[in-house]
Amino acid sequence: MDTRIDAFAFARQGREAHGVVPLARLLRFAEGLPAQPEGEAGLVRWSVRGEEAKSGLLQGEPLLHLHIQADPVLVCQRCNELFTYPVDSRVTLQLVKSEADLEDEFASGEDDGAEEQDFASGQPEKVVGSRHFDLLAQVEDELILSVPYVPKHDVCPGAQASEGGAPQEPAAERPSPFAVLEQLKHKD
Ligand SMILES: [Zn+2]
Repeated sequence: MDTRIDAFAFARQGREAHGVVPLARLLRFAEGLPAQPEGEAGLVRWSVRGEEAKSGLLQGEPLLHLHIQADPVLVCQRCNELFTYPVDSRVTLQLVKSEADLEDEFASGEDDGAEEQDFASGQPEKVVGSRHFDLLAQVEDELILSVPYVPKHDVCPGAQASEGGAPQEPAAERPSPFAVLEQLKHKD
């Protein structure tokens, strides 16, 4: 499947595209992860919509709205068990013409810290657009960013069992001190 687009034309013309790709085929994503499910369960569903921003600070800027859904299998770093981590991620990308337009914080595409900062501020992520822009690589990048660096269960299944499963110790039958006092009084 050819997923290369003329990114600027795509945005300007408000085009849309969508597709599916097996997680296992996204080699950068799959690296270091356990085997991903086969068939439907292992598919990434993605869609993208181009737009020229109509208002605000970004008015006239070419944007790509990306939506990614997948259920990758990760290894919990606390209990070492496999678990499914549902991803349903929407991100807006702002297309710029050159690396220089990415500004200093984006000098390196590998700089995850800068991307997180950008994400937190609610601003679109800037990416360099081109006439043969690789959509699938973008999908893969966003998927990588959507998965926690140190994946963990919210509550590990083992931890739940040991906390909730411990039998309750019955309180030992013991006469209250007041009862003892009462008895002493009655001895008089
Ligand atoms: Zn766990």
